[in-house]
Amino acid sequence: MPSDTSHNPRTGMDVDAFREDIHQHLHYTLAKDKFSSTEWDHYRSVVMAVMDRLHDRWINTQQSYYAQKSKRVYYLSMEYLIGRLMDNMLINLGVQDVVAEAIEDLGLDYDKVREAEADAGLGNGGLGRLAACFLDSMATLGVPALGYGIRYDYGIFDQDIENGWQVEKPDMWLQYGYPWSVVRPKKKYRVRFYGEATAHEDSNGRLHFDWVNTHNVTALAYDTPIPGYQNDVVNHLRLWKATSDEGFDLKSFNQGDYIDAVRNNLLEENISRVLYPNDKVFKGQELRLKQEYFLVSASLQDAMVRFKKQFSDLSKIPEQMAIQCNDTHPNLAIPELMRVLMDEEGLEWIPAWEITTKTINYTNHTLMPEALEKWPLSLMSNLLPRHTQIIREIDRRFLNTIEVSGDRSANSKKNDMRIISNEMESRVRMGHLGIVGAKKVNGVSKLHSSLMKKTIFSDFSDHFPQKFTNVTNGITPRRWLRQCNRELSELISDNIGSDWVTNLEQLQQLEKFAGDEEFQEQFKEIKLRNKQQLAGYIKKTMGVQVDPHSIFDIQIKRIHEYKRQLMAIMHAIALYNRLKKNPNADVAPRTLLFAGKAAPGYTMAKLHIKLINSVAEVINNDPDVAPKLKVLFLPDYSVSLAEKMIPAANLSEQISTAGMEASGTGNMKFALNGALTIGTLDGANIEIREQVGNENIFIFGHTVDEIKEVRNSGYHPQEIYEEDEELKKVVDQIHEGYFTPETPDLFHPITNALLSQGDYFMVLADFRQYIDKQKEVEENYRNSFDWNKKAILNVAKMGHFSSDRSIRDYCERIWDIDIE
Ligand SMILES: *Cc1c(COP(=O)(O)O)cnc(C)c1O
Repeated sequence: MPSDTSHNPRTGMDVDAFREDIHQHLHYTLAKDKFSSTEWDHYRSVVMAVMDRLHDRWINTQQSYYAQKSKRVYYLSMEYLIGRLMDNMLINLGVQDVVAEAIEDLGLDYDKVREAEADAGLGNGGLGRLAACFLDSMATLGVPALGYGIRYDYGIFDQDIENGWQVEKPDMWLQYGYPWSVVRPKKKYRVRFYGEATAHEDSNGRLHFDWVNTHNVTALAYDTPIPGYQNDVVNHLRLWKATSDEGFDLKSFNQGDYIDAVRNNLLEENISRVLYPNDKVFKGQELRLKQEYFLVSASLQDAMVRFKKQFSDLSKIPEQMAIQCNDTHPNLAIPELMRVLMDEEGLEWIPAWEITTKTINYTNHTLMPEALEKWPLSLMSNLLPRHTQIIREIDRRFLNTIEVSGDRSANSKKNDMRIISNEMESRVRMGHLGIVGAKKVNGVSKLHSSLMKKTIFSDFSDHFPQKFTNVTNGITPRRWLRQCNRELSELISDNIGSDWVTNLEQLQQLEKFAGDEEFQEQFKEIKLRNKQQLAGYIKKTMGVQVDPHSIFDIQIKRIHEYKRQLMAIMHAIALYNRLKKNPNADVAPRTLLFAGKAAPGYTMAKLHIKLINSVAEVINNDPDVAPKLKVLFLPDYSVSLAEKMIPAANLSEQISTAGMEASGTGNMKFALNGALTIGTLDGANIEIREQVGNENIFIFGHTVDEIKEVRNSGYHPQEIYEEDEELKKVVDQIHEGYFTPETPDLFHPITNALLSQGDYFMVLADFRQYIDKQKEVEENYRNSFDWNKKAILNVAKMGHFSSDRSIRDYCERIWDIDIE
């Protein structure tokens, strides 16, 4: 039983049992002793001891879901940005201290063991991290959920910085194996591609559709257990690896071409080879569409097997499954479920459509046009001929339901709404498919959900007003406070108890300590120690000393023009100029830290990284400014690096162009760890302001409406540049090569984008407000009492941003699942 505390080394939850089990795994499973074992061996032995404890809870949980005929949630996502799991597993099992003691007893170092784990970086940024937080919350709330994804051999690339430029290196996370997963050699499904769609009449004259002459790939399941927080629930994440069908291509084999038969296996395995490293940009490569269908096909087959073990009446599917598509990437689930129900289960169109549109849901993550998936119809019909037929029929039936009103012509409205666009080259619009085929469509913050209805999907929101809803994103407090900031967690628990870990609204109780001198003193010391630790990491990895008493001003996220890392580095240049002009200026010392990856093909974002590093080089080596200002770009942003940086932050940079950041979740992590936000009225920043109050956040910049107004009345960034002397100097320095004298033209693409290409991201429009607001930040920071009061209030008001709250919202508004 899960609560076994006897001295059984396989299941006991005490120090002795863990020490014994870890040692036995080292000896009997890995065949190592204290002389030959490495940190990796120690880590692996700890994982195996933890897995021993997870397995009986896992089996019990799954048995009880069957026994109770529970409705399942299937979360379909192309990305899971998991990070390391050791701490997370130990905390959720309630044995972190016990295992730490067992590890120390064995003469090992807990931190070294933990750091031997490679990050599972199977995602690009916020969307993948959201999926990982949701898994933790679903298990913690006891939701009978299963995450489906792809087991990429290579996750998000490792980022090196060479001479200031980003260089991509393959992410070898699986090179020594992944001990948190269990392969299920018998859980294999055939996934078909290419071939032809054909039809035949049966003896009753009924038409049947078939998909023949396909090229087949096998999906093989790897499961990782996902424990809830101290509740004995264990769900799992099932990741599919592509292997060749039946091992060999029998046709070539029989023809005697052994080498060819084997070589083809590798081509099939390419489907799960690598994560596409683009965040919020659609590229249209065939291999990516293969990956998307691979995920959908294997996962739906698996879900149908589970359903059919207990039910035969297919109309019960919507009562037994809720399928959630994380963005449009898995939206082929709509035509795939239709195909399965009609071609394999023999249903007619209408009942199949009824089931599909009550089962599948779609989460929209961005309004940016370059991110929306629009697959060329020719590509799709070649790869998935039967699905293309079904999508055409969904489109045809949908168009018949569109009513025309006002003076807009029937054709123009239909063309705007159709799934298959009527362009020179027809394309399948995956967002439109999602809206037409899903039960519910949600955005990820109040602002984003309302803009989604008002802008890109306004016709759909008129047509299906009941389909649209909002679920504001959240973060798991287990990883993003309890795990990454142990000292702050303990301070909080010592004062208000530890219920906040699963009921984050409890943090409200901290409000009364915000102005309490003693609490403040402890809070301040913890923040300082976190900053000292980060400073140590920076010294060790980059050889640069930063001042832990300076303001730690941090912007970490994907590098993207809309996130405006450019504006933050321009602020640093302005500060540098002020200090050069007046080296004795009485300013609060500041350390500006960046981290983030740029998509390998995103030239402008990569140039922004080079600019940050070039500016850093000049500033950090100038003795006039050295004591007051440091700028650093930390390489290889990851979940593990975020866990080191966020607890050390004083100021959180959330400065996207209003209307462009759907939600953000980095913003929530920082505030939960006692950083103040400087930000625009965008995404969830708006809801953070609602929670903390306007006086506890630094808001600046054009609002969505103001941006629209400026664009409509003619935006002239040149004029702003001419009229603001300080801004002009900053832009001129970038333009003239002040930071890269050997290649003075290097940054012209950046300054041209600002001055002659219309400054689409409105950097110049917001610059003055931004640096004036930064001045206010600085003045505020000097009043330590006031600053810490605000920081504590931020922590106290973050209850709303727990991903537990997000999952409760999904259960209530979308999945129709009762919790508790
Ligand atoms: C939280 C997180 C993100 C998302 O950050 P935003 O600031 O919301 O874009 C991206 N990457 C990692 C590693 C994260 O932990």
